[in-house]
Amino acid sequence: MHELIASPFLDDYLVLRPGSVRGLKIPHGRYLELRQAATGAEPCPPWLADAVRRHWELDVAGRTVADLVLVRERSPYGYGRASYELNLGCNYDCEHCYLGLKRFKGLPWPERQRLLHILRDAGVLWLQLTGGEPLIDKLFAEVYELAFELGMMVSISSNGSRLSNARILDLLTTRRPYRLTLSVYGATPDGYDRLARRRAPASRPGRARTRSLHCWPETRHRLRIARGTSMQRIDWVELPPGLRLAVESRTGPVLTATTAAEGKNSEVAAFLRTVGGHVFIKGLRSDHPRVWTQEREAMVNPYIRHVGPRLLWHVDTEGWNVLGFEHVAGRHADYSPRSPDLPLVVHAMQRLGATSCPELPLKRAEERWACYLDDGAALELLRGDTLLHTDYNPMNVLVAGDTARIVDWAWPTRGAAWIDPACLVLRLMAAGHRPLEAEVWAAQVPAWAQAPREAIDTFALISLRMWDEIATDDPQPWKRQMQAMVQEWAAFRHLRN
Ligand code: SF4
Repeated sequence: MHELIASPFLDDYLVLRPGSVRGLKIPHGRYLELRQAATGAEPCPPWLADAVRRHWELDVAGRTVADLVLVRERSPYGYGRASYELNLGCNYDCEHCYLGLKRFKGLPWPERQRLLHILRDAGVLWLQLTGGEPLIDKLFAEVYELAFELGMMVSISSNGSRLSNARILDLLTTRRPYRLTLSVYGATPDGYDRLARRRAPASRPGRARTRSLHCWPETRHRLRIARGTSMQRIDWVELPPGLRLAVESRTGPVLTATTAAEGKNSEVAAFLRTVGGHVFIKGLRSDHPRVWTQEREAMVNPYIRHVGPRLLWHVDTEGWNVLGFEHVAGRHADYSPRSPDLPLVVHAMQRLGATSCPELPLKRAEERWACYLDDGAALELLRGDTLLHTDYNPMNVLVAGDTARIVDWAWPTRGAAWIDPACLVLRLMAAGHRPLEAEVWAAQVPAWAQAPREAIDTFALISLRMWDEIATDDPQPWKRQMQAMVQEWAAFRHLRN
């Protein structure tokens, strides 16, 4: 088994060691020297033995090049990296996963062999094995071993649940990957289980993963492990004690805390039952790139209390930015056709539409969406002085009795009053309305009824481009659904991208 790889890579020549991130760049002449030496029984040249000792603390003196180095040929195609999704199956069902239905079927072995040889011949030196979950693939070991033998630096992206498997443990410690990237789905077993949505007591992922990770320090061969993180809900009990104290100084002692299941934008979203009553909290880490949405929500709250919940307090401490709102004992609005909630939603929108935008440093609609349109005159159609919510996801509308309350003001915008009903059109379509039916509801907001057709067409075109971008960058099912809805809406309005 080779311990080093000598290979062309783009315009350079490299010597690499599997399992290590370090490498040597060598001149073309030395690459040719190794290539020639590997065909016979020539000993390792002193310059290589010396460099290997310095870089990897490995003594190779006396060994032959053929025994030590796998020398790869230059590819006429010149590729360097590739990613191979072994299959689209997974033993988890994470709430953020874009895969939808998990299909376990991958290529049969002969085709996988052929694929790996094609990748090698195309020049691929760094190969990522991913899925789905690659470690549950029944041919994972065979694929990994062949990719390694063909002289590829293999990295693996995994949820880590199968790392304690003896065969995998043995394989990865004898033929070391370039990198192992593990997705970390929670700081506690409960948080982990909730995100991964596996509840069988005997195979709780949180515990399985803990067991998997515990097996690694016991191995003599340490692996380089990178962590992948994704936005996930953090439970009240996982927050720093100093932050919880700061919250309780405003609410009184917390008796119970229930993490909100819905919504995707906040790391913390929970209902607190306290001695002083119920409170809803939402928050992000203070260094989160979107923490400004918290500040904006706090800023706009005094002006939207006639349609939304009152902000009670705002804390920024212990690395967390948290807002505390009055609790609305409602349920999420039902947007489906003939839902009795629809008139309530429209009524809330009518009330909001009559609200002049306060003098706050809010984004203007014509600026916010300017990147999707290079026609300055058309962008001017978005200009206006109404305070807009712009995110009418049904999770953001709570119905309590005969009133709809608009929550989650992360994207307030100053603009034309017909923009909010235009945003609602797409959400109604996602709930099953035909475009015409959705527009009939929107038309009950006076600003929509009076808006020039050209203005709404402009917004539909912007939405088309925006959701194309969103769904392409991160093809989660709900984003692809919104992309499909806006395509249908644009077709209904006879628009072309
Ligand atoms: S571990 Fe990865 S592939 Fe599996 S369900 Fe979670 S996100 Fe999807």
